[in-house]
Amino acid sequence: MTKITFLCETNPGANRETGINPAYENGMDQYVYDFLCSKGYDVTWIKISPTDDGSALTDEILENTEVLLWWGHIYHKNILDSVAEKVVARVNRGMGFFAMHSGHHCKPFKRLIGTTGNLSWREIGERERVWVTDFGHPITKGLGDSFVIDHEEMYGEPFDIPNPDELVFISWFQGGEVMRSGCVWKRGRGKVFFFRPGHETLPTYKYESVQKVIVNAIEYLTPDEIVAPYGAPKIPVPPEGDIKTW
Ligand code: ZN
Repeated sequence: MTKITFLCETNPGANRETGINPAYENGMDQYVYDFLCSKGYDVTWIKISPTDDGSALTDEILENTEVLLWWGHIYHKNILDSVAEKVVARVNRGMGFFAMHSGHHCKPFKRLIGTTGNLSWREIGERERVWVTDFGHPITKGLGDSFVIDHEEMYGEPFDIPNPDELVFISWFQGGEVMRSGCVWKRGRGKVFFFRPGHETLPTYKYESVQKVIVNAIEYLTPDEIVAPYGAPKIPVPPEGDIKTW
């Protein structure tokens, strides 16, 4: 099974310690971790509190990661630039990167896409309908034409991203906005996937359709191989042999 690292904030909204989050009895992070384990993945869980800088994502853990799931919301700036850099380097070598919900603003994601990742938002728990826009795409397997999440935070256009290589979902919100909510980019040997739903105070990750997306995406992001770093070698003898050019 795929070797996964799940890096997740424990912010007050997703509160685990005091149990004030009505959506998840033991916190959103614990729920997602348990879900991933229940699917048989080999999961390393990294918790990010307000005082963490991401250095818990060590070289050793990263070298043992095939797909990195990143859920963050309000502590993005605390993450060391060096951590973001090494994540990007490994994606270029083949590792899958899954930006969950507010992961659109995490440092590695912004470096991978090259733009701000800014978007409009509103938090009143409105209805979201997620439409499939790429039928037959592996991430949409078993989903039908669309699915509904009863209450979600709204993220809407304009969404400052480069055009995705594969646009998998578009969301509609009760208030009228739309959003490119499932996007794939290829970077080097690796793939990057952004999936919008997943606000921490709402039970989004309990939806079967959302769980299907997560499993499908992990499968899609899993690399056949993670290659060694490739430099810029000078090739004195070309593949066709020692040719005479002048
Ligand atoms: Zn949110």
